Amino acid sequence: MTVRTRFAPSPTGYLHVGGARTALFSWLYARKHGGQFVLRIEDTDLERSTAESVNAILEGMTWLGLEYDEGPFYQTHRFERYKEVIQQLLDSGHAYRCYCSKERLDTLREGQMAAKVKPRYDGHCLEHAPQDPAAPHVIRFRNPKEGSVFIKDLVRGNVEISNSELDDLIIARTDGSPTYNLTVVVDDMDMQITHVIRGDDHLNNTPRQINILKALGAETPIYAHVPMILGDDGARLSKRHGAVSVMQYHDEGILPEALLNHLVRLGWSHGDEEIFSIDKMIELFDIEDVNKSASAFNTDKLEWLNQHYIKSDDPARIAHLLSPFMGKLGIDPTEGPSLSEVVQAQQERATTLIEMAETSAFFYKDFDDYDEKSANKNLKAGAREPLLKLREQFEALSDWQAEHIHHIVQEVSAELELNMGKVAMPLRVAVVGRASSPSIDITLQLVGKEATLRRIDKAIAYIDARVAAAE
Ligand code: GLU
Repeated sequence: MTVRTRFAPSPTGYLHVGGARTALFSWLYARKHGGQFVLRIEDTDLERSTAESVNAILEGMTWLGLEYDEGPFYQTHRFERYKEVIQQLLDSGHAYRCYCSKERLDTLREGQMAAKVKPRYDGHCLEHAPQDPAAPHVIRFRNPKEGSVFIKDLVRGNVEISNSELDDLIIARTDGSPTYNLTVVVDDMDMQITHVIRGDDHLNNTPRQINILKALGAETPIYAHVPMILGDDGARLSKRHGAVSVMQYHDEGILPEALLNHLVRLGWSHGDEEIFSIDKMIELFDIEDVNKSASAFNTDKLEWLNQHYIKSDDPARIAHLLSPFMGKLGIDPTEGPSLSEVVQAQQERATTLIEMAETSAFFYKDFDDYDEKSANKNLKAGAREPLLKLREQFEALSDWQAEHIHHIVQEVSAELELNMGKVAMPLRVAVVGRASSPSIDITLQLVGKEATLRRIDKAIAYIDARVAAAE
């Protein structure tokens, strides 16, 4: 058997964290078993489905790298097929036309509620219907009256539901359009889905879908209903908790591997391990190890993972992802030092790509203002002489390399009998604008000689102005 899984979003919004985790689990399961992963867009709700939402979902999948082997299939392209199956169910006696008016159904429901029995269709049209296809009607699935449905669920364990609990479900509306449960069944059957991995909000649809599949003589897939995701506060994850669209995490400078790593850990674990590369996830993940209970999204953990991946990923890859964030700051990183080298210098010190872009801007353009605290502390009268000496020697340096720069800083400190900090810190604030940066020699090498000299001049002028103002 070739494992075939699917992700079947309804395009009524962006790709949210819950959907992304369902997609990830389905994708991982297919990858792990050398199977196929299918993307199906469930867009039959014409009023709520939008093209923007389809694009947002595709964009999110692409960003996360959840590539699909087949699709995207669109349910709206498959109406003919659904009609065919509905007809097949009518012909085989597994479905029937129902002409009951809204009034009759309302009266029926009220009576059942008053008698405290579960509201359900009473099968009236099975016996009394005019069976006139021209009169307005819906089509109902004739659910078996006896026996039970067994769900083999890889997360929840085996579930048994008595058929007496199930209604004769409407599978086609008055306008002939198929309903949700019918389209899912036809697609899972036609697409030969072997494992349905989805949110546990669909659990109550499953016995109905199994009955329809059986009526069609189709194989029943194995199900895995995954629990919902909670926010930090234990309530169901929603917009209230901040970002729920995966692309919002992209915009906030989170790496896709960090988000995937956090998502895979929501309900799944492997010992005490926290870090899972994609390859490791594929190797270790198993849907049967997913927990039944809901788990909470944790922004701090996500940031911690992000920091980890920023630190350990290939600098060229981080540079590639960082580039658009530099662009947002009006910086073209092809004009200036190699962005990969900048990343290498900065990798240890950033939590998000946004932060890395902000703290890397000075490599590419002069800053306007000094960080006040850093300037107050380091750009004082006493810094004038070391800065002047450094400037003199830097100007004379023809091979602008970190080791020579380092040597000059050392020499100037020795010559002025100052500790290194008293020389390097004013230099750092002069060139970076604040008191933190990667090591001063690499920083200056990347900033370049010309910009370094220009910024030292500016700092000296700044000190002079301060001194003059204080007199
Ligand atoms: N379209 C459904 C949803 O977005 C999923 C259906 C399924 O996975 O069976 O909730």
